[in-house]
Amino acid sequence: MPGEAHRWQALEHAFESLVQAYGYREIRTPAFEDTDLFVRSSGETSEVVSKQMYSFVDKGGRDITLKPEGTAPAMRAFLEHSLGGQGVVTRLYYFTQIFRYERPSKGRYRQAHQTGLELVGSPSPAADAEVIEITVRFYEALGLKDISVDLNSIGREETRARYREALLTYAEPYLADFDSDFQAQARKNPLRLLDSKIDVLKAAMDQAPSILDYLEDTSKAHFEELKKLLGEAGIAFRVTPKTVRGLDYYTDTVFEVVCGSLGDKALCGGGRYDNLIAQLGGPATPSVGVAMGVERALMAMEAEGLVTDQPGLDAFLVAATESARTTLRGLARDLRAVRVRTGLDLDGKSLRSQMKQADREKARLALILGDDELARGEITLRDLEKGDQVCVALEAAVDAVRSRLG
Ligand code: AMP
Repeated sequence: MPGEAHRWQALEHAFESLVQAYGYREIRTPAFEDTDLFVRSSGETSEVVSKQMYSFVDKGGRDITLKPEGTAPAMRAFLEHSLGGQGVVTRLYYFTQIFRYERPSKGRYRQAHQTGLELVGSPSPAADAEVIEITVRFYEALGLKDISVDLNSIGREETRARYREALLTYAEPYLADFDSDFQAQARKNPLRLLDSKIDVLKAAMDQAPSILDYLEDTSKAHFEELKKLLGEAGIAFRVTPKTVRGLDYYTDTVFEVVCGSLGDKALCGGGRYDNLIAQLGGPATPSVGVAMGVERALMAMEAEGLVTDQPGLDAFLVAATESARTTLRGLARDLRAVRVRTGLDLDGKSLRSQMKQADREKARLALILGDDELARGEITLRDLEKGDQVCVALEAAVDAVRSRLG
């Protein structure tokens, strides 16, 4: 809505100016993709693919899906347009709508927005650290205070295979109380039990084996180096072995930033996905990325009292007489040319109702022109915020307005 859109614009601007300073370039991907892209990337058992996709068959018989996330489309485009190359690091950012058939609630919508980063082509923990650092700097730039970085490593496929088995062995006694569908899902992808919202399972998972005890040496070394780099950058984090993320494509690093003022709801999620591009048919390309919920960030700002009202107009031009209107239309043109946000009555309204309109538009200044002033070549400049007024020469009006506005 008009009264809120400025917050979105400010957030978008804060994000873009930040990530451009790190050398990221924008990518804009289509609203829909082949359904197969999401099935292959996110994994058939992921919640997004198994339950939440807006998929349909188009008139040409193609199976397509409104994008539920930004990474797979960006990587599909990356491959299709050969954006990378051997040993080349590519930095991409996006701001996109996402579509998920979820049960709508506060902070969870069927059409939402994410802004994100993809750092493609580097296997170094320094790449993971860069993405996490930018994420934290972004929330800092918004003014958010009550945030925590939850960091974990889920290792490589071999680690996960061993861990899945151990976790399932641990969880089996608890599964007996659930229906066969639930049991089958849990056996297919036991990692999903870790972030279960069901009370008994939640309690049980607190005592579950930790994936960190199953990491291979290279993953361990990667994780240690990442923690060191984050410390060096002054980024506070907590290691949370239960953070595994819902999508199958992650390797090693996964992280979320949660917001205390939203009851620890996740603001964003990200991690390393070294196998994704190969899974999509490209060459093995180590990559790391993050997706941040825009609605969540705005909710967090609201919860922390950081949202501002929409700014009013800079100036409203008020004609005290009919003959003043032509001059004011010219002045409005001159002010708008230098991007002073200027309002002007279109309908020949009375002086009183023009002043009311200036008030409604929260104009900082009113410029009032009557026949006497017109004859003298002057205009009255009233500061509606401070309450004072001065007469200025008509030809100096633009400069006078600009200097008042600073
Ligand atoms: P995910 O990759 O699913 O963890 O999504 C990353 C972030 O996007 C989450 O932490 C949320 O902030 C946001 N998000 C995901 N799904 C939704 C949704 N349905 N409505 C609003 N925000 C969402």
